[in-house]
Amino acid sequence: MLAMREQADLRSYNTLGITEQAERLIEIGSDRELLAALATAQAGGWPVTILGGGSNVVVSGPLGGLVIAMRSRGRRVVQRTADRVVIEGEAGENWHDLVNWSLDLGLFGLENLSLIPGTLGAAPVQNIGAYGVELQEVFHSLDALDRDTGQILRFECADCRFAYRDSIFKQRPGRYVILRVRLVLQRHGRVRVDYAPLDSAWADTGLRRADARVVAALVCRIRRSKLPDPAVLGNAGSFFKNPLVSPAQLEALQASYPGIPHYAQPDGRYKVAAGWLIDQAGWKGWREGPVGVHAMQALVLVNHGGARGEDILSLARRIGEDVAQRFGVTLEMEPQRLG
Ligand SMILES: Cc1cc2nc3c(=O)[nH]c(=O)nc-3n(C[C@H](O)[C@H](O)[C@H](O)COP(=O)(O)OP(=O)(O)OC[C@H]3O[C@@H](n4cnc5c(N)ncnc54)[C@H](O)[C@@H]3O)c2cc1C
Repeated sequence: MLAMREQADLRSYNTLGITEQAERLIEIGSDRELLAALATAQAGGWPVTILGGGSNVVVSGPLGGLVIAMRSRGRRVVQRTADRVVIEGEAGENWHDLVNWSLDLGLFGLENLSLIPGTLGAAPVQNIGAYGVELQEVFHSLDALDRDTGQILRFECADCRFAYRDSIFKQRPGRYVILRVRLVLQRHGRVRVDYAPLDSAWADTGLRRADARVVAALVCRIRRSKLPDPAVLGNAGSFFKNPLVSPAQLEALQASYPGIPHYAQPDGRYKVAAGWLIDQAGWKGWREGPVGVHAMQALVLVNHGGARGEDILSLARRIGEDVAQRFGVTLEMEPQRLG
């Protein structure tokens, strides 16, 4: 018997801390429970929303139908060779706990992705990334339920169409439910510390030998100093993607803003730091009523208490319009809008 709650408060189900109601909510712990919940929703004609840890969503209204919170647990080593180890985890596994477990096993690959909130099942949805590493670099495969056909499919890396904060799962919201994910990690790794400010923090350690645990600890320290803890101040991490511009656009921007931070991309375009644009436009630390822009990180919108999803979205629109007017650059929202 599934424990379904009616008119459930979603406040503790999203890290922005927005209070909205789910008409019905269920926490599922296994594939069997997921299938039963989906069958119940189908019989009732209810729309379904899948939620992990709620750290990359803006709930902007009541959610009708059924919200399914992925809480399946379990992780294991599924393949071991002289050089690499493939680990597998259920979708509801906490991401950071999984990173720590991989470090306990002495494996390299996830250290730069330490302390990202949320679940393993959501990590492929936006191809999570931090400090110069993206999930796709350690991705092996995943199993997902195709809600259109009822089949459980295996996705290899190419099937996922990973791109910067993007994948097939983000492009087709609601179609696939990710059940479990496999990652391929290295037994004798090389740490990646070339991304500022991790590079200087690593240099300060004076260490020569690769040590994934030290890198993870440095990443955690940097993140804690720059990003608000959602348990203290509601937020969804970076609210905008870093925009990609053509070489001609970058040249035009550099004519007025010579110091604009930019990173060359393999396709010839440049990634421009969205946080820098927002900061230059004067929004850093801005506050109006319950919503604001974090004082330490202009890319993070915060809920000071009692904000509605629409308050957050309206602030995001104003920032986007201002940045477009000043710099001619379009900002794209990173979190998914629900409701
Ligand atoms: C303080 C903070 C820092 C952050 N830092 C980073 C960072 O450095 N890099 C980064 O990439 N992100 C970052 N994020 C964003 C976020 O943590 C990640 O995107 C994370 O992977 C979201 O996981 P979640 O379980 O909370 O997903 P949710 O927010 O619950 O869901 C996100 C989307 O995925 C879908 N989804 C969730 N689970 C599944 C599933 N099993 N199957 C199919 N679809 C599913 C949901 O429907 C929704 O569309 C940060 C967020 C915060 C609050």
